[in-house]
Amino acid sequence: MFSKILIANRGEIALRILRACKELGIPTVAVHSTADADAMHVRLADESVCIGPPAARDSYLNIPQLLAACEITGADAVHPGYGFLSENARFAEILEAHNIEFIGPTAEHIRVMGDKIQAKQTARDLGIPVVPGSDGEVTADDDAHAIARQIGYPVLVKAAAGGGGRGMKVAKSEAELDTALSTARSEAKASFGDDALYMEKYLGKPRHIEIQVLGDGKGNAVHLGERDCSLQRRHQKVLEEAPSPSLNAEQRHKIGQIVADAMRELKYRGVGTVEFLYENGEFYFIEMNTRLQVEHPVTEMITGIDLVNEQIRIAAGGDLDMTQEDIKFDGHAIECRINAEDPVTFAPSPGTITYYHPPGGLGVRVDSGVYQGYKIPPYYDSLIGKLIVHGRNRVECMMRLRRCLDEFVVDEIKSTIPLFRDLVDNQDIANGQYDIHWLEKYLADKSN
Ligand code: ADP
Repeated sequence: MFSKILIANRGEIALRILRACKELGIPTVAVHSTADADAMHVRLADESVCIGPPAARDSYLNIPQLLAACEITGADAVHPGYGFLSENARFAEILEAHNIEFIGPTAEHIRVMGDKIQAKQTARDLGIPVVPGSDGEVTADDDAHAIARQIGYPVLVKAAAGGGGRGMKVAKSEAELDTALSTARSEAKASFGDDALYMEKYLGKPRHIEIQVLGDGKGNAVHLGERDCSLQRRHQKVLEEAPSPSLNAEQRHKIGQIVADAMRELKYRGVGTVEFLYENGEFYFIEMNTRLQVEHPVTEMITGIDLVNEQIRIAAGGDLDMTQEDIKFDGHAIECRINAEDPVTFAPSPGTITYYHPPGGLGVRVDSGVYQGYKIPPYYDSLIGKLIVHGRNRVECMMRLRRCLDEFVVDEIKSTIPLFRDLVDNQDIANGQYDIHWLEKYLADKSN
C-alpha cells in the first residue's frame, strides 16, 4: 500500500478523497493555491503545501509544482480527483517517470478515450453500440453530404477534440449542412487548435445514461449499474439519479454486461464511466470518462461500494475483489449539485457563508468543503457541495430530498437550492419523465 497520498485537487472532492485515505490509514498531503489557504481539505490533511497563486494554471494545473510537493513530502501516489489534471495523460506519464503512482488508468487509455474519434472507434471495436455516423474524420464536404444522406437528417457535426459542447452544430436538412460544417470547423480550430470533425445522427429526445465500471488492469472488470444524468443545463449535469427511472433490470443487465466485457478486454484499470444517449430503447455511446465522476456518490449509495477506496487499492496493485454477482442494487439515490449561483440567472455568487446548516438523518449524505465563515473564492467552479439522498424506493427518496432541501441553509450567498426545491414538486420529475432538453425548456418557460 502507499505510504502517503497527495491529493491534487480542491473543494468537496479533495475532502472526499481524504476521507477514503483516512479510512485506509494512509497519511495525506493537501495542496492549495494562495486563495484556498483556509479550505477544509487543507485543515483536515496531515500535511499541506501551497503550490501557487489563485489561477488554476499556476497552481492546481502546475505539474512542476505538484512534483515538487510530492518530493518534499515524500508522497508516493497522487489522486487527481476530477477536472484539473485527472484526464491528462502527460501528467500520468510524468508521475510514472518519477516513480509516483497516478491513481487512475494507464496514460494510453486516457489518451485513446480523450480523442473522440479514437474513443468511438475503440468502443465500436469492443462491441459497444455507437451513434450511427461517419467512419472517423470527415475531411471533404462532398463526403459529409453523402454520409448525411445515408444516416438521415438531422445530423450533428462534432469536433474530434471537443469538450463542453463546443464545436458541435446541428444540420436539420441538406441546406444547413455546409454552414454547420464551416462554423463547427472554425469553432473547433479556435477552441482546441484542431479542426478535425466527425458526424453523427442527431437524436431528438434522448436521455443521458452512463455506466459505472471498475477494473483492476489485469483483465477483471465489473459494472456498478447506471446513473441517469438527463437533467442538464448547457450540457452540464444538474441532478443525477440511480437507478434510471427508464430502465428495467433486464435492460440494465444487458448494457452493463456489454460494457463490463469491453473493459475486461481493454484491461481497464480503476474507475471509469461509459456515457450513452438512450432513445427508444437503444443505447448510443458518446464518450468515456477515465476518472472519478462528480456524481459517483449515487452509485455508492445504492451499491454500498466506496469507489475511492477501490481506486486506491487497485492503483496499489490490488485485485478486483468482487464478482458481478456480488454487486447488489439497493433502493434509489438522487444527487443535487449545489452551486453558489443565482437560482434564476445562474450568475456566480461567491462570498462569505455567514450561516450554514446542512441536513442530516437516515439516508442523507452531504459532500461539501464549506463551513460557517468560509469565503467562497471567485476563481474556481461554483460547485459548493452535493446533497445525496437514499431511499428504499424512488418515492421515498424524493420525499426525503424535499425534506432535506427544506432543512438546508446556506446564507448569505445565493445557491441553487431553491431551484431543486421547485424541481422536486414538478410532476414530470416526480414521474421520472424527462430527457436531456427538459430542464432548458422548463427554465425558458419559467422566465416567460
Ligand atoms: P462534450 O464532450 O463536448 O460535452 P459529448 O459528446 O459528451 O460532447 O456531448 C455532449 C452533449 O451533447 C450530450 O450530453 C448530449 O446532450 C449532446 N449530444 C451529443 N451527441 C449527440 C447526438 N448524436 N444527438 C443528440 N445530442 C447529442
